[in-house]
Amino acid sequence: MKHDVLIVGGGVSGTALLYTLSKYTDVKNIGLIEKYSDFGLVNSASTMNSQTLHFGDIETNYTFEKAKKVKRMADMVMKYLETEKFRDCKCNYFIKVPKMVLAVGKEQVDTLRERYKTFSQLFPNLRMIGKEEIGKIEPRVLEGRDPNQELLALVTEDGYTVDFGRLSHCFVDHAKELNPDISFHLNTKVLKIVKQGDSFKLFTNKGEFEANAVVIAAGSHSLKIAKSLGYGKNFSILSMSGSFYTGPKVLNGKVYTMQVAKLPFAAIHGDPEVHDENVTRFGPTAKPILLLERYNNSTFFEYWKTFGVGIKPIISILNITFDRVIFNYLLKNVIYDLPSIGKRAFLKEIKKIVPNIKLEEINFAKGIGGTRPQIINNTTKKLEMGEAKIVGENIIFNITPSPGASTCLGNAFEDTLKLMDFLGNKYKFDKDQFEKDLVL
Ligand SMILES: Cc1cc2nc3c(=O)[nH]c(=O)nc-3n(C[C@H](O)[C@H](O)[C@H](O)COP(=O)(O)OP(=O)(O)OC[C@H]3O[C@@H](n4cnc5c(N)ncnc54)[C@H](O)[C@@H]3O)c2cc1C
Repeated sequence: MKHDVLIVGGGVSGTALLYTLSKYTDVKNIGLIEKYSDFGLVNSASTMNSQTLHFGDIETNYTFEKAKKVKRMADMVMKYLETEKFRDCKCNYFIKVPKMVLAVGKEQVDTLRERYKTFSQLFPNLRMIGKEEIGKIEPRVLEGRDPNQELLALVTEDGYTVDFGRLSHCFVDHAKELNPDISFHLNTKVLKIVKQGDSFKLFTNKGEFEANAVVIAAGSHSLKIAKSLGYGKNFSILSMSGSFYTGPKVLNGKVYTMQVAKLPFAAIHGDPEVHDENVTRFGPTAKPILLLERYNNSTFFEYWKTFGVGIKPIISILNITFDRVIFNYLLKNVIYDLPSIGKRAFLKEIKKIVPNIKLEEINFAKGIGGTRPQIINNTTKKLEMGEAKIVGENIIFNITPSPGASTCLGNAFEDTLKLMDFLGNKYKFDKDQFEKDLVL
């Protein structure tokens, strides 16, 4: 059977698109292909990411423009979560806690105070607080700290901790209710895509599929598929795995540290675990690996297909790592994953948040943490700061490093607009209703 739209990838991005198409368009003939036996098992799984709904208020590596864009998209997820929590649909998948970004020492304090002037316009619930109030919200942040150390924080009550894997399930459940005709193909791996006239033929381990329009929401695999069709040739992927250390409940909410502007990763933070608030997770680290999927060695060769052969990506990597800030950062992060010395080295980072935490209190979280597909632009020879969307002829490829889970509905909105165009405007997207429901 020929589909109007086929989505490849059943993580939070692919399922958010499925939900958007089902609820806000009249496209009926939709299929979703996922290579594993269930949805949300790769980077969207709660074990694989930091579980944070990023808005850009406490992420000091975001520019104002980026924060504005991310906020609009994160608001959509927040509205979805808040509306759907009343429904009986396994929706026990988020918790709301206070969150803050902590500046330590004069330089950081001055930077954060300056940032607050502009960012408070975008985030009216964000408050600037001093030592005393920080101590009331997060006592362990003050305990054992040098009393002469200058401290400042931006704090808000809107700290959403989300199980994005379960959110993927919720999107699927709601999409099924709205459109029982959707065809789901689990355990089905797309091996090759060929454009035939106006449509696409998808070859999988379970046979062939045909579609008028295709969206590849396969994380880092999206670039591999894009390249096989002649798109995204000037991009490579730096696969940045992220590990975590866990400890007992030492924080009441999320505490972020200040980020170095050059780095496209969130600075180390401490967060309560979504399914057990008595566990605090610290991380993530950022170590390059040669796999497209963490803990899946069979993706080693796929990684190289995505990286590309030839001198250009190698020159880009050298150019990126010759930057002293990035080089030192990567080196430190490689150490954090090493047994014993890694734990001691990482303890120093945790102590910036919880000064009197003990070595015995923390443990390396085995098997936790996925990998972020950071885009290398081989034309500029630089790391791109966020997600990449490659739009081809009737096909879209989404490559989703952090905060790809927070922006899933925003991405789905953009893709739906494009799909209507791909399908010759035969169908309608009720974007006013989407915005009424999901945009603040
Ligand atoms: C350490 C870490 C921390 C992070 N923290 C956050 C955070 O706090 N907040 C946030 O918003 N984001 C965070 N992210 C990023 C976030 O996890 C991802 O952006 C998001 O989960 C991407 O969702 P996705 O659906 O695009 O990809 P995935 O969840 O990886 O889903 C892609 C799917 O495509 C399938 N697939 C791949 N190839 C094929 C194929 N050939 N055929 C069929 N199916 C295929 C896969 O099996 C998979 O199910 C973090 C990521 C990491 C690694």
